[in-house]
Amino acid sequence: MTDATGKINLLGLTQAEMEQFFESIGEKRFRAGQMMKWIHHFGVDDFDAMSNVSKVLREKLKASAEIRGPEVVSEDISTDGTRKWVVRVASGSCVETVYIPQGSRGTLCVSSQAGCALDCSFCSTGKQGFNSDLSAAEVIGQVWIANKSFGSVPAKIDRAITNVVMMGMGEPLLNFENVMDALSLMMEDQAYGLSKRRVTISTSGVVPAIDRLKDFTDASLAISLHAPNDELRTQLVPINKKYPIKELLRSAAGYMSTLGERRVCVIEYTLIAGVNDHRQHARELAALLRDFPCKINIIPFNPFDQSDYRRPSDSSIGNFRQILHEAGYTVTVRTTRADDIGAACGQLVGAVGDNTRRSERYAEAASKRLLGEAQSAATGREFTKADNLAVSADRHGA
Ligand code: SAH
Ligand code: SF4
Repeated sequence: MTDATGKINLLGLTQAEMEQFFESIGEKRFRAGQMMKWIHHFGVDDFDAMSNVSKVLREKLKASAEIRGPEVVSEDISTDGTRKWVVRVASGSCVETVYIPQGSRGTLCVSSQAGCALDCSFCSTGKQGFNSDLSAAEVIGQVWIANKSFGSVPAKIDRAITNVVMMGMGEPLLNFENVMDALSLMMEDQAYGLSKRRVTISTSGVVPAIDRLKDFTDASLAISLHAPNDELRTQLVPINKKYPIKELLRSAAGYMSTLGERRVCVIEYTLIAGVNDHRQHARELAALLRDFPCKINIIPFNPFDQSDYRRPSDSSIGNFRQILHEAGYTVTVRTTRADDIGAACGQLVGAVGDNTRRSERYAEAASKRLLGEAQSAATGREFTKADNLAVSADRHGA
């Protein structure tokens, strides 16, 4: 928890850890609550601004501790009110955080890793490879920064951020401990006090981590399914090979059963033209989920440079939705927001120092593709399929 300065960063400490910290410096545990309110309710990072802390204690704190959020590289506001922050984390990579206002709701989409090791075929984060896990301070720091930009409101009413979804860059369950600590701060009254229903973990299906989840949190769960059968899902979400659909649904159902109170899992389905958007896929999905209490959220694919996939037409999105709706499911279609600032789902790229060489390989594949297009234009030959295979071979070799 100490950083390069050798000081402990109080930003990422849970309530229990904060109490331990104060005990370790010979102070009373009640100081923990005071400190958390200063940090999370009021967005303070300067011990001298803490008026109910004595000068002696402030000096003691300065010697051993600090409150340090990730560095804000940029903040953009879209014409539709969406905001996007790019923040630099300790590894030197940049990750993105997005705020989406919608009626009385304000949802903050938070990143958990710089890059992602899982390489789903339709995701721009995955294309960059993996660089680093975010610390608990870097995960909660994104909420801290966003909250401050709205002028921290400690009261539970009129707050700008009503929901947090772990749907930014990275796979939250592959950075388990840090994400669990950050989630507990999101829900902790002395910090952000969000209801467990309004904090959502989204996962591509790290089954052993879902199995452990109930011992650490009672946050809501979203499963990125994207396909109704293993053959197709393995092509889109490579981790499916290790943890196939049946195991994933068993594990998710196990977690949901511990939550009770009529809470249901959200099934996310990124709809890609000609890939997983056929009527038959919708029927298969309806049958697959028959005994699994859930809502289905369709996310029309958001295009990005390194992908040949296309967004389905509105009528094909409508048909897919209708089939599920008629089968009795609650279905929502995520509207694309903030294209102007590159903040739509799956467009988050940050600037990741790749450890896996995957981004390099994709760049090589992309330049081969460009070469192919040039040759194709010159010879009239069709290169698309070969290019897709090159990208796919590259992906599986990663
Ligand atoms: N790693 C986690 C959370 C981050 S991705 C997960 O996979 O669930 C958050 C959501 O964005 C996932 O449902 C993912 O499938 C979706 N997504 C990724 N790329 C997308 C794209 N290009 N268009 C639309 N949705 C995308
Ligand atoms: Fe990683 Fe999620 Fe993107 Fe898959 S969809 S590569 S798990 S961030």
